Amino acid sequence: MTKEDVKVLIIGSGPAGYTAAIYAARAGLKPVLYTGGQPGGQLTTTNDVENYPGYPDGINGPQMMVDFQKQAERFGTDLRYGLATSVDFSGYPHKVVIDENHEITAEAVIISTGASAKYLGLESEQTFANKGVSACAVCDGFFYKGLPVAVVGAGDTAAEEATYLANLAPKVYMIARRDEMRASKIMQQRVLNTPNIEVLWNTETEEILGDEAGVTGARLVNNKTGEKTEIEVKGFFVAIGHKPNTDIFKGWLDMDETGYLNVKPGTSHTNVEGVFATGDAADRVYRQAVTAAGTGCMGALDAERFLAAKEMEAVTE
Ligand code: NDP
Repeated sequence: MTKEDVKVLIIGSGPAGYTAAIYAARAGLKPVLYTGGQPGGQLTTTNDVENYPGYPDGINGPQMMVDFQKQAERFGTDLRYGLATSVDFSGYPHKVVIDENHEITAEAVIISTGASAKYLGLESEQTFANKGVSACAVCDGFFYKGLPVAVVGAGDTAAEEATYLANLAPKVYMIARRDEMRASKIMQQRVLNTPNIEVLWNTETEEILGDEAGVTGARLVNNKTGEKTEIEVKGFFVAIGHKPNTDIFKGWLDMDETGYLNVKPGTSHTNVEGVFATGDAADRVYRQAVTAAGTGCMGALDAERFLAAKEMEAVTE
Protein backbone atom coordinates (compact mmCIF):
# COMPACT_ATOMS: atom_id res chain seq x y z
CA MET A 1 0.00 0.00 0.00
CA THR A 2 1.48 3.36 -1.04
CA LYS A 3 0.88 6.33 1.28
CA GLU A 4 0.41 10.04 0.76
CA ASP A 5 -0.61 13.10 2.82
CA VAL A 6 -2.93 15.70 1.29
CA LYS A 7 -4.67 18.76 2.66
CA VAL A 8 -8.07 18.51 0.93
CA LEU A 9 -9.29 15.33 -0.70
CA ILE A 10 -12.38 15.44 -2.92
CA ILE A 11 -14.05 12.16 -3.80
CA GLY A 12 -16.18 12.30 -6.96
CA SER A 13 -16.32 14.22 -10.22
CA GLY A 14 -19.89 15.36 -10.79
CA PRO A 15 -21.04 18.97 -10.47
CA ALA A 16 -20.54 18.81 -6.67
CA GLY A 17 -16.97 17.47 -6.77
CA TYR A 18 -15.79 19.81 -9.51
CA THR A 19 -17.39 22.85 -7.89
CA ALA A 20 -15.78 21.96 -4.56
CA ALA A 21 -12.49 21.65 -6.46
CA ILE A 22 -12.87 25.07 -8.14
CA TYR A 23 -13.49 26.78 -4.79
CA ALA A 24 -10.85 24.83 -2.86
CA ALA A 25 -8.22 25.37 -5.58
CA ARG A 26 -8.95 29.09 -5.77
CA ALA A 27 -8.55 29.25 -1.99
CA GLY A 28 -5.03 27.83 -2.41
CA LEU A 29 -5.86 24.50 -0.76
CA LYS A 30 -4.36 22.42 -3.63
CA PRO A 31 -7.19 19.85 -3.65
CA VAL A 32 -6.66 16.32 -4.89
CA LEU A 33 -9.77 15.02 -6.66
CA TYR A 34 -10.42 11.37 -7.44
CA THR A 35 -12.96 10.95 -10.23
CA GLY A 36 -14.58 7.66 -9.14
CA GLY A 37 -15.74 4.98 -11.55
CA GLN A 38 -17.76 7.28 -13.78
CA PRO A 39 -15.72 10.44 -14.48
CA GLY A 40 -18.12 13.36 -14.83
CA GLY A 41 -20.85 11.48 -12.98
CA GLN A 42 -24.48 11.09 -13.94
CA LEU A 43 -24.56 14.08 -16.28
CA THR A 44 -22.35 12.16 -18.68
CA THR A 45 -25.38 9.94 -19.33
CA THR A 46 -27.65 12.91 -20.09
CA ASN A 47 -28.22 14.55 -23.40
CA ASP A 48 -29.50 18.10 -23.16
CA VAL A 49 -29.35 19.96 -19.88
CA GLU A 50 -31.81 22.81 -20.21
CA ASN A 51 -32.25 23.87 -16.60
CA TYR A 52 -28.72 24.85 -15.62
CA PRO A 53 -28.62 28.66 -15.40
CA GLY A 54 -26.19 30.36 -17.74
CA TYR A 55 -26.88 28.17 -20.76
CA PRO A 56 -29.87 29.81 -22.49
CA ASP A 57 -29.72 27.31 -25.37
CA GLY A 58 -29.08 24.26 -23.14
CA ILE A 59 -25.89 22.23 -23.09
CA ASN A 60 -24.92 18.64 -23.71
CA GLY A 61 -24.27 16.84 -20.35
CA PRO A 62 -20.84 15.33 -21.14
CA GLN A 63 -19.64 18.66 -22.58
CA MET A 64 -20.81 20.46 -19.46
CA MET A 65 -18.74 18.13 -17.30
CA VAL A 66 -15.66 18.62 -19.49
CA ASP A 67 -16.10 22.36 -18.92
CA PHE A 68 -16.43 21.86 -15.14
CA GLN A 69 -13.27 19.71 -15.17
CA LYS A 70 -11.29 22.28 -17.17
CA GLN A 71 -12.34 25.03 -14.77
CA ALA A 72 -11.27 22.92 -11.76
CA GLU A 73 -7.89 22.13 -13.37
CA ARG A 74 -7.30 25.73 -14.41
CA PHE A 75 -6.95 26.70 -10.75
CA GLY A 76 -4.62 23.83 -9.90
CA THR A 77 -6.82 20.89 -8.90
CA ASP A 78 -4.79 17.68 -8.93
CA LEU A 79 -7.24 15.47 -10.86
CA ARG A 80 -6.74 11.72 -10.75
CA TYR A 81 -8.58 8.66 -12.00
CA GLY A 82 -9.37 6.22 -9.21
CA LEU A 83 -12.08 4.92 -6.91
CA ALA A 84 -12.23 5.36 -3.15
CA THR A 85 -12.61 1.80 -1.86
CA SER A 86 -12.56 2.22 1.94
CA VAL A 87 -12.22 4.86 4.64
CA ASP A 88 -11.14 5.07 8.26
CA PHE A 89 -12.57 8.06 10.06
CA SER A 90 -11.71 6.80 13.55
CA GLY A 91 -8.89 9.29 14.10
CA TYR A 92 -7.51 12.48 12.64
CA PRO A 93 -6.31 13.16 9.97
CA HIS A 94 -8.74 11.01 7.96
CA LYS A 95 -7.75 7.98 5.96
CA VAL A 96 -9.14 7.09 2.52
CA VAL A 97 -7.91 4.16 0.44
CA ILE A 98 -7.97 4.51 -3.34
CA ASP A 99 -8.26 1.42 -5.58
CA GLU A 100 -7.44 -0.75 -2.54
CA ASN A 101 -3.75 0.11 -2.88
CA HIS A 102 -3.11 3.78 -2.11
CA GLU A 103 -3.75 5.22 1.34
CA ILE A 104 -4.36 8.93 1.54
CA THR A 105 -4.27 10.82 4.81
CA ALA A 106 -6.32 14.00 4.44
CA GLU A 107 -6.89 16.97 6.71
CA ALA A 108 -10.31 17.51 5.13
CA VAL A 109 -12.41 15.16 3.02
CA ILE A 110 -15.19 16.38 0.73
CA ILE A 111 -17.53 13.59 -0.34
CA SER A 112 -19.20 14.10 -3.73
CA THR A 113 -19.80 10.48 -4.70
CA GLY A 114 -23.28 11.04 -6.16
CA ALA A 115 -25.89 8.39 -6.76
CA SER A 116 -26.41 5.49 -9.19
CA ALA A 117 -29.42 4.10 -11.03
CA LYS A 118 -31.61 1.56 -9.22
CA TYR A 119 -32.78 -1.71 -10.76
CA LEU A 120 -35.95 -3.74 -10.17
CA GLY A 121 -34.05 -6.66 -8.66
CA LEU A 122 -35.21 -9.30 -11.16
CA GLU A 123 -32.79 -12.06 -12.07
CA SER A 124 -33.63 -11.53 -15.74
CA GLU A 125 -32.28 -7.97 -15.43
CA GLN A 126 -28.84 -9.42 -14.74
CA THR A 127 -29.22 -12.05 -17.48
CA PHE A 128 -29.93 -9.39 -20.08
CA ALA A 129 -27.68 -6.62 -18.77
CA ASN A 130 -26.12 -5.00 -21.84
CA LYS A 131 -28.26 -7.33 -23.98
CA GLY A 132 -31.32 -5.14 -23.99
CA VAL A 133 -31.60 -4.03 -20.35
CA SER A 134 -30.29 -0.54 -19.70
CA ALA A 135 -30.64 2.28 -17.18
CA CYS A 136 -29.72 5.01 -19.64
CA ALA A 137 -31.77 5.73 -22.75
CA VAL A 138 -29.45 8.47 -23.90
CA CYS A 139 -26.47 6.09 -23.75
CA ASP A 140 -28.11 3.03 -25.29
CA GLY A 141 -31.27 4.19 -27.10
CA PHE A 142 -29.45 4.41 -30.40
CA PHE A 143 -29.04 0.60 -30.47
CA TYR A 144 -32.82 0.18 -30.56
CA LYS A 145 -33.53 2.50 -33.44
CA GLY A 146 -36.60 1.23 -35.28
CA LEU A 147 -37.41 -1.35 -32.56
CA PRO A 148 -40.10 -1.37 -29.86
CA VAL A 149 -38.90 -0.61 -26.31
CA ALA A 150 -40.23 -0.28 -22.75
CA VAL A 151 -39.40 2.15 -19.96
CA VAL A 152 -40.15 1.27 -16.33
CA GLY A 153 -40.97 4.11 -13.96
CA ALA A 154 -43.14 7.21 -13.97
CA GLY A 155 -40.88 9.92 -12.58
CA ASP A 156 -39.11 12.68 -14.50
CA THR A 157 -36.30 10.36 -15.54
CA ALA A 158 -38.71 7.78 -16.98
CA ALA A 159 -40.72 10.50 -18.74
CA GLU A 160 -37.57 12.01 -20.21
CA GLU A 161 -36.31 8.61 -21.35
CA ALA A 162 -39.67 7.65 -22.87
CA THR A 163 -39.91 10.88 -24.90
CA TYR A 164 -36.28 10.56 -25.97
CA LEU A 165 -36.83 6.95 -27.10
CA ALA A 166 -40.06 7.89 -28.89
CA ASN A 167 -37.89 9.73 -31.43
CA LEU A 168 -36.01 6.53 -32.20
CA ALA A 169 -38.44 3.68 -31.61
CA PRO A 170 -41.77 3.05 -33.36
CA LYS A 171 -43.41 2.14 -30.02
CA VAL A 172 -42.54 2.92 -26.42
CA TYR A 173 -44.36 1.29 -23.49
CA MET A 174 -44.11 3.21 -20.26
CA ILE A 175 -44.72 0.90 -17.31
CA ALA A 176 -46.19 2.81 -14.33
CA ARG A 177 -46.93 0.92 -11.13
CA ARG A 178 -49.63 3.37 -10.01
CA ASP A 179 -52.50 5.10 -11.82
CA GLU A 180 -50.61 8.39 -11.85
CA MET A 181 -47.14 9.68 -12.59
CA ARG A 182 -44.70 11.20 -10.16
CA ALA A 183 -43.15 13.22 -13.01
CA SER A 184 -43.60 17.00 -13.22
CA LYS A 185 -46.74 18.23 -15.03
CA ILE A 186 -44.81 19.42 -18.09
CA MET A 187 -43.09 16.05 -18.52
CA GLN A 188 -46.38 14.18 -18.02
CA GLN A 189 -47.94 16.28 -20.76
CA ARG A 190 -45.03 15.55 -23.10
CA VAL A 191 -45.50 11.81 -22.52
CA LEU A 192 -49.27 11.87 -22.95
CA ASN A 193 -49.01 14.01 -26.10
CA THR A 194 -46.53 11.68 -27.78
CA PRO A 195 -48.61 9.33 -29.94
CA ASN A 196 -46.18 6.39 -29.96
CA ILE A 197 -45.87 6.22 -26.16
CA GLU A 198 -48.40 3.94 -24.48
CA VAL A 199 -48.58 4.25 -20.69
CA LEU A 200 -49.48 0.97 -18.98
CA TRP A 201 -51.00 2.04 -15.65
CA ASN A 202 -51.04 -0.07 -12.46
CA THR A 203 -48.55 -2.36 -14.10
CA GLU A 204 -45.50 -4.18 -12.77
CA THR A 205 -42.84 -6.25 -14.45
CA GLU A 206 -42.86 -9.93 -13.56
CA GLU A 207 -40.10 -11.04 -15.90
CA ILE A 208 -37.98 -9.75 -18.74
CA LEU A 209 -38.09 -12.28 -21.56
CA GLY A 210 -35.39 -13.07 -24.09
CA ASP A 211 -33.07 -15.51 -25.80
CA GLU A 212 -29.32 -15.76 -26.47
CA ALA A 213 -29.49 -12.67 -28.65
CA GLY A 214 -31.05 -10.54 -25.93
CA VAL A 215 -34.38 -9.15 -24.78
CA THR A 216 -37.47 -10.09 -26.77
CA GLY A 217 -40.21 -8.88 -24.44
CA ALA A 218 -41.54 -8.65 -20.92
CA ARG A 219 -44.27 -10.34 -18.88
CA LEU A 220 -46.31 -7.77 -17.01
CA VAL A 221 -49.01 -7.97 -14.38
CA ASN A 222 -51.76 -5.49 -13.62
CA ASN A 223 -51.57 -5.00 -9.84
CA LYS A 224 -55.29 -4.10 -9.63
CA THR A 225 -56.80 -6.93 -11.70
CA GLY A 226 -54.01 -9.53 -11.59
CA GLU A 227 -54.23 -9.80 -15.36
CA LYS A 228 -50.98 -10.84 -17.03
CA THR A 229 -49.85 -9.62 -20.44
CA GLU A 230 -46.75 -9.94 -22.58
CA ILE A 231 -45.27 -7.14 -24.62
CA GLU A 232 -42.73 -7.52 -27.40
CA VAL A 233 -39.77 -5.21 -26.92
CA LYS A 234 -36.06 -5.31 -27.77
CA GLY A 235 -34.95 -2.69 -25.28
CA PHE A 236 -35.96 -2.55 -21.60
CA PHE A 237 -35.03 0.69 -19.86
CA VAL A 238 -35.17 0.89 -16.08
CA ALA A 239 -35.76 4.42 -14.79
CA ILE A 240 -36.97 3.99 -11.21
CA GLY A 241 -34.69 6.30 -9.30
CA HIS A 242 -31.27 6.24 -7.76
CA LYS A 243 -29.25 4.99 -4.81
CA PRO A 244 -26.57 7.18 -3.21
CA ASN A 245 -23.00 5.89 -3.59
CA THR A 246 -22.22 5.86 0.12
CA ASP A 247 -21.65 2.18 0.98
CA ILE A 248 -17.99 2.76 1.94
CA PHE A 249 -19.09 5.29 4.59
CA LYS A 250 -21.45 2.88 6.39
CA GLY A 251 -20.51 2.63 10.04
CA TRP A 252 -18.51 5.89 9.90
CA LEU A 253 -21.05 8.53 8.85
CA ASP A 254 -24.70 9.10 9.78
CA MET A 255 -27.03 8.33 6.89
CA ASP A 256 -30.72 7.63 6.33
CA GLU A 257 -32.17 4.21 5.54
CA THR A 258 -31.57 4.68 1.78
CA GLY A 259 -27.97 5.71 2.37
CA TYR A 260 -28.22 9.49 1.88
CA LEU A 261 -25.62 11.11 4.14
CA ASN A 262 -26.96 13.30 6.93
CA VAL A 263 -25.53 16.79 7.17
CA LYS A 264 -26.04 19.49 9.79
CA PRO A 265 -28.92 21.51 8.26
CA GLY A 266 -27.78 24.40 6.10
CA THR A 267 -24.17 23.14 6.00
CA SER A 268 -22.12 20.31 4.51
CA HIS A 269 -20.84 19.11 7.91
CA THR A 270 -21.26 15.39 8.57
CA ASN A 271 -21.12 13.89 12.06
CA VAL A 272 -17.33 13.54 11.68
CA GLU A 273 -15.25 16.72 12.01
CA GLY A 274 -13.43 17.55 8.81
CA VAL A 275 -15.61 15.32 6.61
CA PHE A 276 -18.07 17.18 4.39
CA ALA A 277 -20.88 15.75 2.25
CA THR A 278 -22.06 17.41 -0.96
CA GLY A 279 -24.18 16.70 -4.03
CA ASP A 280 -26.59 13.82 -4.57
CA ALA A 281 -24.83 11.65 -1.96
CA ALA A 282 -26.44 13.90 0.66
CA ASP A 283 -29.50 15.15 -1.21
CA ARG A 284 -32.61 13.02 -1.06
CA VAL A 285 -34.86 15.85 -2.21
CA TYR A 286 -33.57 18.07 -5.01
CA ARG A 287 -30.90 15.99 -6.83
CA GLN A 288 -30.24 18.57 -9.52
CA ALA A 289 -26.95 19.58 -11.15
CA VAL A 290 -27.34 23.12 -9.92
CA THR A 291 -28.07 22.11 -6.32
CA ALA A 292 -25.15 19.66 -6.42
CA ALA A 293 -22.86 22.46 -7.61
CA GLY A 294 -24.23 24.71 -4.85
CA THR A 295 -23.53 22.21 -2.10
CA GLY A 296 -20.10 21.49 -3.65
CA CYS A 297 -19.32 25.16 -3.08
CA MET A 298 -20.56 24.83 0.52
CA GLY A 299 -18.29 21.80 1.03
CA ALA A 300 -15.21 23.73 -0.06
CA LEU A 301 -16.06 26.80 2.04
CA ASP A 302 -16.83 24.64 5.10
CA ALA A 303 -13.54 22.75 4.60
CA GLU A 304 -11.62 26.00 4.22
CA ARG A 305 -13.08 27.40 7.46
CA PHE A 306 -12.50 24.13 9.29
CA LEU A 307 -8.82 24.08 8.24
CA ALA A 308 -8.36 27.75 9.16
CA ALA A 309 -9.81 27.08 12.62
CA LYS A 310 -7.49 24.07 13.03
CA GLU A 311 -4.50 26.22 12.12
CA MET A 312 -5.55 28.88 14.64
CA GLU A 313 -5.84 26.16 17.29
CA ALA A 314 -2.32 24.95 16.47
CA VAL A 315 -0.92 28.50 16.71
CA THR A 316 -2.54 29.27 20.08
CA GLU A 317 -1.64 25.90 21.65
P1 NDP B 1 -38.22 9.39 -8.83
O1 NDP B 1 -37.90 8.82 -7.50
O2 NDP B 1 -38.77 10.76 -8.92
O3 NDP B 1 -39.25 8.43 -9.58
C1 NDP B 1 -39.07 7.05 -9.60
C2 NDP B 1 -40.20 6.41 -10.37
O4 NDP B 1 -39.97 5.01 -10.44
C3 NDP B 1 -41.58 6.60 -9.73
O5 NDP B 1 -42.55 6.68 -10.73
C4 NDP B 1 -41.71 5.31 -8.92
O6 NDP B 1 -43.06 4.93 -8.74
C5 NDP B 1 -41.05 4.32 -9.84
N1 NDP B 1 -40.54 3.15 -9.15
C6 NDP B 1 -39.70 3.12 -8.07
N2 NDP B 1 -39.41 1.86 -7.73
C7 NDP B 1 -40.08 1.07 -8.58
C8 NDP B 1 -40.19 -0.33 -8.74
N3 NDP B 1 -39.54 -1.18 -7.94
N4 NDP B 1 -40.98 -0.80 -9.72
C9 NDP B 1 -41.63 0.05 -10.55
N5 NDP B 1 -41.57 1.38 -10.47
C10 NDP B 1 -40.79 1.89 -9.49
O7 NDP B 1 -36.85 9.23 -9.67
P2 NDP B 1 -36.39 9.98 -11.00
O8 NDP B 1 -35.09 9.35 -11.31
O9 NDP B 1 -37.43 9.98 -12.02
O10 NDP B 1 -36.15 11.49 -10.56
C11 NDP B 1 -35.27 11.79 -9.48
C12 NDP B 1 -35.21 13.30 -9.25
O11 NDP B 1 -34.57 13.96 -10.34
C13 NDP B 1 -36.61 13.93 -9.15
O12 NDP B 1 -36.56 14.95 -8.20
C14 NDP B 1 -36.83 14.49 -10.53
O13 NDP B 1 -37.73 15.57 -10.54
C15 NDP B 1 -35.43 14.92 -10.93
N6 NDP B 1 -35.24 14.88 -12.40
C16 NDP B 1 -35.36 16.06 -13.08
C17 NDP B 1 -35.21 16.09 -14.45
C18 NDP B 1 -35.31 17.41 -15.15
O14 NDP B 1 -35.71 18.38 -14.52
N7 NDP B 1 -34.97 17.49 -16.42
C19 NDP B 1 -34.90 14.88 -15.22
C20 NDP B 1 -34.83 13.70 -14.41
C21 NDP B 1 -34.99 13.72 -13.06
P3 NDP B 1 -43.96 5.61 -7.58
O15 NDP B 1 -44.28 6.99 -8.07
O16 NDP B 1 -45.12 4.71 -7.53
O17 NDP B 1 -43.13 5.62 -6.33
